[in-house]
Amino acid sequence: MSLAPLTGLAFDNAYTRGLPADPVAENFRRQVAAAAYSRVKPTPVSAPVLIAHSAEVAELLDLSAADCASSEFLQVFAGNALLSGMDPFAMCYGGHQFGNWAGQLGDGRAINLGETVNHAGQRWMLQLKGAGATPYSRMADGLAVLRSSLREFLCSEAMHHLGVPTTRALSLIGTGEAVVRDMFYDGHPRPEPGAVVCRVAPSFTRFGNFQLPAARGDIDLLRAQVEHSIRTDYPALGAPSPETYLVWLAEIAARTARMIAHWMRVGFVHGVMNTDNMSILGLTIDYGPYGWLEGFDPGWTPNTTDAGEKRYRYGNQPQIAWWNLVQLANALHALVPDVPALEAALAAYPRTYEAESQRMLAAKLGLASFQPEVDYELVDGLYRAMSLTETDFTLFHRRLAALSGNAAPSPETVFAALGEAWYLPAEVTDAVRGDVLAWVAAWRARLLQEERPETERVARMNAVNPCYVLRNYLAQEAIDLAEAGDYARVRETLAVLRHPYSEQPGREHYAGKRPEWARQRAGCSMLSCSS
Ligand code: AMP
Ligand code: MG
Repeated sequence: MSLAPLTGLAFDNAYTRGLPADPVAENFRRQVAAAAYSRVKPTPVSAPVLIAHSAEVAELLDLSAADCASSEFLQVFAGNALLSGMDPFAMCYGGHQFGNWAGQLGDGRAINLGETVNHAGQRWMLQLKGAGATPYSRMADGLAVLRSSLREFLCSEAMHHLGVPTTRALSLIGTGEAVVRDMFYDGHPRPEPGAVVCRVAPSFTRFGNFQLPAARGDIDLLRAQVEHSIRTDYPALGAPSPETYLVWLAEIAARTARMIAHWMRVGFVHGVMNTDNMSILGLTIDYGPYGWLEGFDPGWTPNTTDAGEKRYRYGNQPQIAWWNLVQLANALHALVPDVPALEAALAAYPRTYEAESQRMLAAKLGLASFQPEVDYELVDGLYRAMSLTETDFTLFHRRLAALSGNAAPSPETVFAALGEAWYLPAEVTDAVRGDVLAWVAAWRARLLQEERPETERVARMNAVNPCYVLRNYLAQEAIDLAEAGDYARVRETLAVLRHPYSEQPGREHYAGKRPEWARQRAGCSMLSCSS
């Protein structure tokens, strides 16, 4: 079925036009050599329902509210119909999974529909996730369940509104079909409602897109992909050449550093930082078993699949991003044999991360500038104070602003503000209170060295310490309701998360710390890769 175009959607498919296609047209699982992608169509579904959509993303694509409410919209973004100009395909890529080279992976359940260019000339790739098998589906079905799709839909929009670089999500559509999953891989498969998310980004290219041709010794394909990325993802770098390849690598390193500094700022743990889940644009991509720090713990990961090594724990993310960038540089080595030059390009990562992380820490603490000689000690003290007893990362930071005034707060005021962040009041001894008071005093002394109006300090802190994040249990509440056919909560959660830095009267439910029932509940504190 082909439909008349939705108003405003025009396609210009630079990716499929510019890179070599797999010559095989049939859709069966296989190894694909000497090609960047395979053409493949989404699998139609029987009873699509629009669960939610993002008005902001629709606007980016020049889609009106009427467009989004149309049956064409539903059919196209469920994978049942193509618009003229779409040229659907799945990308071929590899990757390191949990530190081990995994060979060919590819878009196993993602199908790119095409690149649309909006009225402002911005290029957006539209991609369905969960729209059926592709040549890269390996042993799996190419489908996605509602719970993981809802988590991806809400989180990518939440991250955007928090100011974190991310892929976006246009729509969340229930397919009306059941998908069987064994959520904890423990021999209890059950049917779950299926869903499709339409993801939107300038490009979905990953580190793994370059690693695979490099690993296979396919230098022509590697060069073609690097040059395509320079031309389309980084046009400001100029015409591709070995010099530009290095600037490209440095730029990716810098963008990755900025992304990670943001993750650390908001307490986001990606959960699966495999190199196939690293965007060449430094965007947060592939929302799976991610989570948000509740009790502050640098060793925490939400991903039960990683429970042993905890490779992708919160505190390890900056290191892992670096490791992943080194793999990308290794792939580039076949094109640029000059190792010191590659190392010099990679050095953009630690340099940018240090600068961004200092800026972020200063902003979170209300400081105009970060002075490494004294402020790292202050930050260490904060981490110690948040580790004395289980302390909510988001609430503790948000509440600090209330204590940043020129007049010293009483101990009662300090505990009234920060006490809300404590999960286990019985554990909060006088010694803990004393240590927290001492840190607050040290922080305030440092703060008051800077002569700045109180209101400016508060505004600065409130602009980087969110009030609302997609707490793991909030996503689960929306999932429980959506699985029962009630979509109002998904939409309300999205509405709240559109303004994460402003207190929203009546929406206190979304700002509180995790309730006790959610502590051990699957989906709230621990997640598997099953999706
Ligand atoms: P992830 O860990 O979700 O990034 O997935 C790793 C690889 O497995 C990617 O190549 C995915 O496309 C693929 N994959 C994950 N789930 C499925 C699925 N249900 N069907 C097909 N491929 C999948
Ligand atoms: Mg992935």
